[in-house]
Parts: sequence; structure tokens; C-alpha cells
Amino acid sequence: MNYLSTRGHPDRKRFCEILLEGLAPDGGLYLPEQYPQIDTATLAKWRKLSYAELAFEILSLYIDDIPPADLKAICAKTYTAEVFGTDEIVPLRELEDGVYLEALSNGPTLAFKDMAMQLLGNLFEYELARRGAELNILGATSGDTGSAAEYAMRGKKGVRVFMTSPDGRMSPFQQAQMFSLQDANIHNIAITGVFDDCQDIVKAVSNDLAFKRKYRIGTVNSINWARLLAQVVYYFAGYFQATAANDKPVSFTVPSGNFGNVCAGHVARMMGLPIHTLVVATNENDVLDEFFRTGVYRVRGAVDTHETSSPSMDISKASNFERFVFDLGGRDTAKLRKLFVDDLGLNGSFDLSADPAFAQAAARFGFRSGRSTHADRLATIRDTDKRFATLVDPHTADGLKAAREQLSPGVPMVVLETALPIKFAATLVEALGEEPARPKKFEGIEALPKRVVKLPADAEAVKAYIAEHCD
Ligand SMILES: *Cc1c(COP(=O)(O)O)cnc(C)c1O
Repeated sequence: MNYLSTRGHPDRKRFCEILLEGLAPDGGLYLPEQYPQIDTATLAKWRKLSYAELAFEILSLYIDDIPPADLKAICAKTYTAEVFGTDEIVPLRELEDGVYLEALSNGPTLAFKDMAMQLLGNLFEYELARRGAELNILGATSGDTGSAAEYAMRGKKGVRVFMTSPDGRMSPFQQAQMFSLQDANIHNIAITGVFDDCQDIVKAVSNDLAFKRKYRIGTVNSINWARLLAQVVYYFAGYFQATAANDKPVSFTVPSGNFGNVCAGHVARMMGLPIHTLVVATNENDVLDEFFRTGVYRVRGAVDTHETSSPSMDISKASNFERFVFDLGGRDTAKLRKLFVDDLGLNGSFDLSADPAFAQAAARFGFRSGRSTHADRLATIRDTDKRFATLVDPHTADGLKAAREQLSPGVPMVVLETALPIKFAATLVEALGEEPARPKKFEGIEALPKRVVKLPADAEAVKAYIAEHCD
């Protein structure tokens, strides 16, 4: 399998070449040259597999530069009941007639990002050992991504993590999750500033090409193709649990921010998984809902980007969206460049409302969307607790709200549960008046010793810290 850039760069790459890379050299995103097609006989065979075996089968279609036995071992080591809590890994439960929750957040940090990041950690360790190379991951987080990355990379040979976060601005639980890690290769850096300062530092360091090369700086952000590929697996696993046979369509609703999760659903559908509808659920930051309703994609400025009670969906633009628009436009790289380089660069928006391709977003690609506000979120959390004695986190609540608006008779609707309620306890308390129960392994983590350094919002200070801790 070869990978191309959405923006038309002539080079083609193999999986392990793009594994450790971010954007393509022309600023585009990597996609496979074509989507492997799955027939019903294959689906029937896959239905009987364990999650790790299923992951191996799907990954094998996209990765031909890791020997199969090695890839199989990596999948088996990643997707265990020990790490993800159950043998199903992503157990499905019916909430009400025809509406299901697929649990993606029983990994080490209680959010769905573990599903991909745990695999990425093992792939990185494998590939770096094979090359005899090292990688220093530099990131900025306001919560879920940073902790998922740290729990995936802790103790891994050849990898160090330098994770910046805004000092004092994460929830006490999220802080404790990250700062209590004592592994020598994990570095928490609390920046005196806000999340944007952290992101600016990461950008500034990455733009210093000499420094970047010398210290082998990399990232693990959501545009990484390996992360997206890992997420394709749980659409198949969810489908198999929601159906008894392979001729039944299933819909999915996905609480969305950077469009990584739902883009994996798009890939599964392009491979031939019988997905009826993919519902993109947004919060008040409704860039994506606006696009699917109107055909206009309008990136928000800082003042129009709201801090909400489903903070992992607070985005001003959706960094994986370019992948879908590439497919929507028939993989026309010139057209894609016009939209994402010229129009977005010039106006901060593009408009497909008059383009026949836009109608296809729903008709041919199955996309629908919905929006949920703080009031909706609280109401959904209360209602789900009252009627089904089930606690959902604020992001999953946004999903449930959007899902109920897009039900089709006879088609199971699977809502992806993207985090456990304990991660966002303050909003649960606001909705229900009490804290959600906490898994045993996290009891008392706020009291554990913390491993974190405080640095000013200054890229030079962060560079100096990295340089000092790189040998
Ligand atoms: C990251 C995250 C999302 C958004 O996922 P994308 O892949 O960015 O669309 C939704 N919910 C939670 C809890 C998350 O951590």
C-alpha cells in the first residue's frame, strides 16, 4: 500500500515512512492510494475474531512494510483485557430500543484516544528499534491528548515525551493523571500561560528546523495516519456487536472535534462496511455542523472559539477534515488546493453549497450532523441517568443528543462513548449534584507525588529544557 498527499505531492510513501511524520511535505495529509474493499465473505470471517485479531486483519491491508508476525504480535500486545478492561475491548450496550453506546474509553486514561495511542506507542517502539533511532515527542495539551500520549509512551525505548500544558488550567483529575507518572522518559512542562501559548511554543520549536533535526522532534497529533487507521477497527467491532448478520446497515454518531474519529468511520464505510449514516456531533463550536448543513466551511477565530463543558471538542478548525473533502471532491488535488490553500488562506472559509459534490456528502458518503449546547448536554446527562441509570460524559451526551435527531427505523444507532464521566466530574456535578464513581485504579491520585516543571511561555526556555534532557 502506498500513501499520497491530499495536496498532490508526487512522492508516494509506505506506512512506516509516514508513521513518524506529521504533514506531507506540501502541507497535505496522507491517505492510502485506494481503500481496500471488504466483501461479505471477509466480513463473515472477521465477525468471529477477537479485537486484536480483527485489528491485525485490518491493519495488514494498509501496512506491508512490517512482517505479518511482528504486526500480529504488536496488535496482541496492545489490545488486551488487562489494558482495556474487558475481553471485548469496546463492549456495546443497548441504552434504549435501537440506540447503543460503544465503550471506547476504558483504556488507561479513560478517553477514546487510548484506542489509537496505545497502538502508536508500540508501533513507535518497534520502528525506532528497527532503525536504531530515537524520537522526542513534543506536544501541547489541555487534557485528553497529552495524557493518552504519555500513558502510551511511558517506559518505551527510544521515545521521550515533552508535554506542555497551561499551568493550573487542567482539571485536578487530568493534572493528577499526567503529573503522577514517574517514568524517566515522560516530561511534564507546565507553561505559565494558556493553551494557545503551549501550541505557539510547539509551533516555534518545530519551525526551528536545525533544532528539530538535531533533537529529532516529532509529534503525535490527530492528523497521524496510524492513529486514524487504529480507529477504523472499532467501527467494525461495533458493527459486529450491533448486528447478527452482515447485510444489515448500522449508523454511528461521533462526538467530533478535529474530525479524526469520524474520519475513521468514513474510511470503514469506504472499505464496504455497511454503515448507513455517520452523524457528526458538535458542541457550540459548530464548524462541522455548519458545513454539513450549509456547505460552507468557515474556520473560527480565537474570539469565536468557545470554552465549553465538552472541552475536547472545542476546535476552531477540524484538522482531519481535509481528508474527507479530498474524497468528496473525487480526489482532485487541484480542487483540494484551491479550497484549503487559496480559499482558506485568503478568506478563512470555502463554500461548496453550489458544488454538486456537496449534495454527495449526505447522499453518497452518508454524512449528517447535529449540534448540542451546554443546556442540551446537562439535559441529556440527567435524562440518561433518570431513564437508564447510566452516566455519560459531556462529549458522549452531545453525541446522544445528535443521534436521537437522526434515527432511521430499523437501523441500529451506535453512539461512540468517547470518555468516562469521571474525567469531567464538574459538569456531572452540575447536572446531577454528585460526583460520578471513580475506577479503583484512580482512587486518591490527586495525592500522589507530582513530576512536573514550570517554565515561562517562551520557546527558548522549552528548547533549553529539551536539550538538557536529551542524553
Ligand atoms: C478528542 C476527543 C473528541 C474529538 O475527537 P476528534 O477525533 O478530534 O473528532 C471527542 N471526545 C473526547 C472525549 C475526546 O477526547
